[in-house]
Amino acid sequence: MAELKTGRVVEWQRLSPSLSIFRLIDNQGRPFPSYKAGQYIALRRDDCLLTKKVKEGDEIRYVPDLDPEGKQRHGPVTHSYSLSSAPFETALGNLLEFYVVLEKGVDGVLGRFTESLFRIDEGGDDKLAYVERIVGDFTLEKRAAGFEHVLMVASGTGLAPFASMVKQLDHEAQQGAAPKGRFTLLYANRTYPELGYHEKMLEIEAAKRFDFVCVPSVSRPTSRDRGDLRLGIGRANNLLRSIFRLPPLGAAAVPPVMPRDKPIEMLRERIDPRRTVLLTCGNPQAMADVAFIAGQMGMKFEKEDW
Ligand SMILES: Cc1cc2nc3c(=O)[nH]c(=O)nc-3n(C[C@H](O)[C@H](O)[C@H](O)COP(=O)(O)OP(=O)(O)OC[C@H]3O[C@@H](n4cnc5c(N)ncnc54)[C@H](O)[C@@H]3O)c2cc1C
Repeated sequence: MAELKTGRVVEWQRLSPSLSIFRLIDNQGRPFPSYKAGQYIALRRDDCLLTKKVKEGDEIRYVPDLDPEGKQRHGPVTHSYSLSSAPFETALGNLLEFYVVLEKGVDGVLGRFTESLFRIDEGGDDKLAYVERIVGDFTLEKRAAGFEHVLMVASGTGLAPFASMVKQLDHEAQQGAAPKGRFTLLYANRTYPELGYHEKMLEIEAAKRFDFVCVPSVSRPTSRDRGDLRLGIGRANNLLRSIFRLPPLGAAAVPPVMPRDKPIEMLRERIDPRRTVLLTCGNPQAMADVAFIAGQMGMKFEKEDW
């Protein structure tokens, strides 16, 4: 069985109150296991605020688990997280990177693990244990082999595995081993500051070391965003819908607009459903719609379940 090791969070980068990128290093500088872009690892915090399940009729809710004195119980919680670092970055710097959102349930109850993790941002204890095993089959090798074109569609922190893949492909291209296929990344978050890896993705696209196009978008645009030629407007699934001439989902949805430097005709030509595998990761509703769109277009579909 894989061992639980102690690490420490370094370089906490706060994108918004509920969204961060951070790095993990091992406490004793031990090397992390090697991995492929798209894989994940289990992380654990010991002082999580625990919840318990309550059943009301057919409805299941999770509420704070209180001790006899009315204080919320603390304990360990372990969850999986995709690596947003690329394998070459880990090999160079002996660190792992993550792109994480602070979970907030319907009742406003914060996620057990992420509430504890985000306390690090306020100067709290920075210990973070990890299971010394990196796993998962959401890799280009396993999910995209044999396809001319790989279309990656990410919502929110679902960008993490794709950020790892794109950085690794770019690195390999720099080493003279550019991938043969074409890659298109469509990703959206609520606001511009929350678009983690945005600058990096645009930089890789501009370098043209391999055939890569990225289509970033925000679903809550400001006037700044509407003036940004390289930024689209709308949720990832709705941008994808507009490429395939499908109506946007959700009556209140912002009408999708492509970044002005990525004409929709160019994307329509690039994304030939017969030659494309669509990989998606992110929030379950968006993924379900992306699955529907892929089905409508007869496109091979692969997803990472969170
Ligand atoms: C392979 C994989 C990769 C992932 N990668 C990422 C990533 O890169 N970035 C990211 O932000 N997230 C990622 N996730 C999601 C992550 O693992 C967590 O589920 C998420 O961060 C919420 O954890 P939490 O403890 O804060 O919330 P939780 O407390 O676990 O709450 C989440 C939901 O679980 C339910 N719940 C609450 N309490 C309990 C309980 N006591 N028992 C059972 N269920 C309960 C509720 O429905 C709640 O809405 C990934 C998940 C998987 C499986």
